[in-house]
Amino acid sequence: MSKERLRIALAGNPNSGKTTLFNALTGAHHKVGNYPGVTVEKLEGVMSRGGRQYHLIDLPGIYSLTAYSIDEVVARDFILDEKPDIIVDVLDSTNLERNLYLCLQFQELGVPVIGALNMTDEAEAKGIKINEKTLSASLGIPMVKTVSTKGVGMDALLDCIDALHDGDLQETAHTITYGMEIESKLEGLQQLISADAAFVKKYPGRWLAVKLLEKDADAYARLKEHTRAREIEAFAKDAALWLDKHFGKDAEIVVSEQRYGYIHGAVQESFQIIKKPNFSFTEAIDRIIMNRFLALPLFALIMWALFQLTFAIGEYPMGWLETFFGFLSDLLLNTMPDTFFRSLLVDGIIGGVGGVLSFVPLIVLLFFFLSILEDVGYMARAAFATDKLLHVFGLHGQSVFSMLLGFGCSVPAIMASRTLKSQRDRIITVLITPLMSCGAKLPVHIVFAAAFFPENAANMVILTYACGVVLSLIAALVLRNTALRGDPTPFVMELPPYRAPTIQGVLWHVWEKTWRYIKKAGTVILSVSIVVWIITSFPAYEVSPEEEGAFAATYLESNPDADEEAVAAYVEVSSGQLAVEHSFAGLMGHFVAPIFKPMGFDWKLATASIIGIAAKEVVVSTLGILYRVGSEEDEESEALRSALATDSHMNPLIAFAFMLFTLVVPPCFAALATIKAELGWKWLGFEYVFLLALGGILATLVYQVGMLVA
Ligand code: GDP
Ligand code: MG
Repeated sequence: MSKERLRIALAGNPNSGKTTLFNALTGAHHKVGNYPGVTVEKLEGVMSRGGRQYHLIDLPGIYSLTAYSIDEVVARDFILDEKPDIIVDVLDSTNLERNLYLCLQFQELGVPVIGALNMTDEAEAKGIKINEKTLSASLGIPMVKTVSTKGVGMDALLDCIDALHDGDLQETAHTITYGMEIESKLEGLQQLISADAAFVKKYPGRWLAVKLLEKDADAYARLKEHTRAREIEAFAKDAALWLDKHFGKDAEIVVSEQRYGYIHGAVQESFQIIKKPNFSFTEAIDRIIMNRFLALPLFALIMWALFQLTFAIGEYPMGWLETFFGFLSDLLLNTMPDTFFRSLLVDGIIGGVGGVLSFVPLIVLLFFFLSILEDVGYMARAAFATDKLLHVFGLHGQSVFSMLLGFGCSVPAIMASRTLKSQRDRIITVLITPLMSCGAKLPVHIVFAAAFFPENAANMVILTYACGVVLSLIAALVLRNTALRGDPTPFVMELPPYRAPTIQGVLWHVWEKTWRYIKKAGTVILSVSIVVWIITSFPAYEVSPEEEGAFAATYLESNPDADEEAVAAYVEVSSGQLAVEHSFAGLMGHFVAPIFKPMGFDWKLATASIIGIAAKEVVVSTLGILYRVGSEEDEESEALRSALATDSHMNPLIAFAFMLFTLVVPPCFAALATIKAELGWKWLGFEYVFLLALGGILATLVYQVGMLVA
């Protein structure tokens, strides 16, 4: 006997704990966050128990079956078009009446539905007691209490799913009635709809009739499949008009009032507030954090502290890794004969991949702090706090999710824009997201800031991040006044309560993102490093004794008391660089260098910029190879930094221009593919040209103006 497989959709309001429940059931580790709009695409997973398989589908949050944003459309279309066997409506028990609104619509749709009374722990802490038996009986919907974060109630939920599917539940079919006037119109509509048997099989007549009276655009679109669509449409429009007049308000409002009235009645009977807590932790904190005058400065302070902390702590493990890679290359240099193979290992692989891997601790910390902010519930507050300011620039409070996530990685950040209801707000948000400095750009900033601004390295990096934010605001303002005219839609979102982050969840996501970074280092960056090593090593160039002598002379000129060893080290590095200059990479670099000259970049920076088109991480690894730092026996192990700092072609101004250039130019292929998927080729093309031009112009301006001033 093949296993029976039940398709179960997890649906419900945003932030009610659907993904947490999904993870608890399937053992998956999908992204959870304490703000609405974390899941923007449906997620699937399979689990089995007894002889049964459960195919679970975690959907983005919705408030009703009328959808506005793309994530909501994903959820609605799944439920309407793919008809799951059972819907588990995950309900936030602390906010039951509003959550049940959606539940009733599922019931009306005729799909078997179970209510998971989730977050009962929070409800109990608030002194709310729910009698799930009474609630089930009065609504005709089975209810199960759960605490998904602790896995409480999972077996009971599965038992209930089995029972409902096997017909073991004594269901009392309840339906909400909307009052005489509406019911009579519904009846007329239902009669007309029932004329097309095939259609009614797909969409229950009563459900569609209600939706038509609610003037739901999607319902009208679906009606087109009906053989008598025109007639029904005319009838429905007439009826809605009549109801509008009769009640003196819109028919859809009357319908929703009836639903809320019905829910209120049912909840009254099964709901008990034992004691009203006189102190709310969330309210107390919000009085400070969300204070009208403090909210924005606090937001700025929190972001600044986040980066300072990342750099301050990250410096140590980063140093250890650098020492380790330095030790590794010394070991190879001392034990292996001087062959091309040794150079490939030391200069190509350790210099390239090792250079990128050294930044893992920083990436870990950055993702860790961002994850905590998300889980605690600060993201939603940040969106609120900055909403007014963002409106000035034609952005939307919700854009903050994308912008903050963009500090980690552009790909999920761009996806997060799906929760925006207005297409224009969404396009603008996607287009500015790559200006947020992502984790892959961080190594470039760090290396250049540490080499050229040793006193203020962390602040320089933060300044670069801030430049990205300011540029994004200006870009939004420009777009809003040109290609994407129109006002941003008002911002409505509920603030979730503060919650302690689940350690497991945070660690898992940090690990997942870090692993992706490491994997990239092991694949893309490794292959690019090998290619770069090849084009920098061939054709092989023999440095002549005269040239070596010249290097030694230059070095002694500026360091008259240098010992022999230091001179030899300098000569070796300079000879290596001279050889690179005569290689294919050098030829190519010199060929393209004129384009980069207005920005002050020499052929090495030009080469790194071009190779960095695929992914920003390879900028640092390429520079590492170009400077031949892998073979430099540097005790300090900050090889690339000191090589850059002593390069006569470089100075702090060029370094800053290069940091800005890296920040702004088009993001990696993965991010570009996401933009293409979200907005299409046309906007992708626009974005590419726009970012390339902006990056070039900005770096040129900084360098040229800086030269004038200096
Ligand atoms: P979704 O938007 O419905 O997918 O919600 P998530 O699964 O992302 O969870 C939203 C937040 O609620 C997260 O911070 C979870 O840790 C938290 N959460 C989920 N279920 C429970 C629960 O039963 N009790 C408590 N206290 N928190 C929960
Ligand atoms: Mg979710």
